[in-house]
Amino acid sequence: MPEGDTIFRAARTLHRALAGKAVTHFESMFPSLTRIHDDAPLTGRTIHSVSAKGKHLLMEFSGDLILRTHMRMNGSWHIYRRGERWQRSRRDMRIVVATSDYEAVGFNIPVAEFLPSRELTRHDELRRLGPDVLSGTFDAAEVIRRIRERPSMPIADALLNQRVIAGLGNVYKSEILFMCGVNPFVEVRHIDGGKLQEIVATARRVLATNVLDGVAPMTTYTGYRRTTGRADPKQRLWVYSRARLPCRRCGTAIRVRKQGLDARLTYWCPRCQGAESPEALTPEP
Ligand SMILES: [Zn+2]
Repeated sequence: MPEGDTIFRAARTLHRALAGKAVTHFESMFPSLTRIHDDAPLTGRTIHSVSAKGKHLLMEFSGDLILRTHMRMNGSWHIYRRGERWQRSRRDMRIVVATSDYEAVGFNIPVAEFLPSRELTRHDELRRLGPDVLSGTFDAAEVIRRIRERPSMPIADALLNQRVIAGLGNVYKSEILFMCGVNPFVEVRHIDGGKLQEIVATARRVLATNVLDGVAPMTTYTGYRRTTGRADPKQRLWVYSRARLPCRRCGTAIRVRKQGLDARLTYWCPRCQGAESPEALTPEP
């Protein structure tokens, strides 16, 4: 699943290319979108803005119409100059929004719908999102409150829960917990307030750093490919995708295990990140 910063960058790129321009062509493989287009054509509408909310991408058109898409695991938006060759097969195309000079193409996008703005504010999935890690008004205290509401949830699952904090994905989950020296399987109730603050602040810092223009990603994330949003294990991630390789800090073999309802892979250093339960920290008498 793309991380929030990938969606954020995609939204920004689309916004720069499309905002203020008129739609000259629209097509989609989603019958529900095509139906709206048939009734009230997208063609001729102005694209007001493209923005990210958590992992949702929102494209706002004149005439009170918003296109909401969610990438899930494999979806992505590309932007091309008109006439430029697509980097993906036409078979994977789900949505095209074109202006006189650009073509935005959504590939393999599984979730897409048109909404009027009043429905957006009522939209369940959006309304329940936790504070957006990349929002200008990010509320760390609220995130900590939401983490605390889930005392028996392992911390790695809490960080992936979009109702706790919106925009974090599986790669950063493992990396952030390594950076903070916290075992991903520790239940929230065993983590003290100072450490929770450090985890949330690190999440914010790492994602914000990765969306700044002209700034190289943190050393930690040189392996996080901006274009594909996939981690390259050969590059400098701390733990993600590095199972059995030596920890970059202590040399211990990095471990991997499936975690949570979705069985997402969690990577961690068993030495740098301590024990799973506080009992295990107490030495044998
Ligand atoms: Zn280590």
